[in-house]
Amino acid sequence: MAVIRVAINGYGTIGKRVADAVAAQDDMEIVGVTKTSPSFGCDLAVRKGYPLYCTFDDSAKISAFAAEGYSCTGGLSDLLSACDIIIDCSPGKVGADNLAKYEAAGVKSIFQGGEKHSLTGLSYTSSANHQQNLGADCTRVVSCNTTGLSRTLMPLHNHCSEIGGISVNCVMIRRAADPGDSSKGPINAIKPVLKVPSHHGPDVMTVQPDIRINSLAVAVPTTIMHVHAMTVELPEGHGLTQDSILQMWHDSPRIIIMNGAKTRITTTAEVMELARDIGRTWGDLHEIFVWEDGVSLNENTLYYFQAIHQESDVIPENVDAIRALMNTEVEWEISVAKTDAAIAKFNNI
Ligand code: NAD
Repeated sequence: MAVIRVAINGYGTIGKRVADAVAAQDDMEIVGVTKTSPSFGCDLAVRKGYPLYCTFDDSAKISAFAAEGYSCTGGLSDLLSACDIIIDCSPGKVGADNLAKYEAAGVKSIFQGGEKHSLTGLSYTSSANHQQNLGADCTRVVSCNTTGLSRTLMPLHNHCSEIGGISVNCVMIRRAADPGDSSKGPINAIKPVLKVPSHHGPDVMTVQPDIRINSLAVAVPTTIMHVHAMTVELPEGHGLTQDSILQMWHDSPRIIIMNGAKTRITTTAEVMELARDIGRTWGDLHEIFVWEDGVSLNENTLYYFQAIHQESDVIPENVDAIRALMNTEVEWEISVAKTDAAIAKFNNI
């Protein structure tokens, strides 16, 4: 089977991580990444050996790279002619312009969670709707929060869907900014999202419409991880116990369960230290972290906390989404296993 030629438009926080995860796979390769203008991010692309392109076709913008000592292969149109699929990792809300360019070039595309579902009419998480995305021209990998919600809710949904399904209320305690971001806040406040419910919970329904879910969100002054405080109503006759729920998550991919009291991993700071200790590149944690001792089942009501590494949980999902759109792997579990095994090699674990 031919190796899938993948391009990255927007080599920032998400783009540089997706590029490495794609390059680690044996069924795909990176044919180029874009930067809007010469900056320190270009050095990383050069070091990794990824051909560098300009986000725009403007010849003055392209030649600006050479003036700063970078070899720029061309503009976005040149990159589109060299790839089978493009992963749009641009900042949210610029997707519509970019999508028109991808469609004109006849290239499949994957957007990120900063874009609305309405842009693509199709969204993606590996465990929820891989098959629905098979062969599609365009999709959107849902946000880091929605990806995290799907990971732990999908096993519960699958167990309960025939007996009435699950209803979820959650509070998203969100990091204010990424570690490399100097422009966002708050730095000295807790900022509620006054649009109620927040978009995070309902966004799960773009990948699994049968999960009834609402969310509230607050931004807090931290740069490392989001925390979700979850309340899930299970249907009568669910037959689950606290232990069987933990086992269900244990058996599901991309979820880590640890006991806070025993490991002394009681905050997001220690979770991130764990990620660094086990040698994860950039200190990333692709998995959703669930505190075992924060899980409580009270009759039909399940409570738990989970932590989301916002910069990295969506990275393996992008790799699986490539296989879905290119129709090269029908089973999501097989794609996930392949993706994660290849990533584990470069993650030195
Ligand atoms: P970023 O700002 O770190 O990187 C975006 C990159 O795109 C930058 O290199 C920027 O120069 C470039 N760019 C600017 N305009 C562009 C254009 N018109 N076309 C192509 N590239 C352009 O942003 P990010 O954090 O990587 O976010 C990218 C997307 O991923 C957004 O939709 C965001 O909502 C989503 N996302 C971000 C996170 C996170 O925590 N950072 C998590 C999940 C999803």
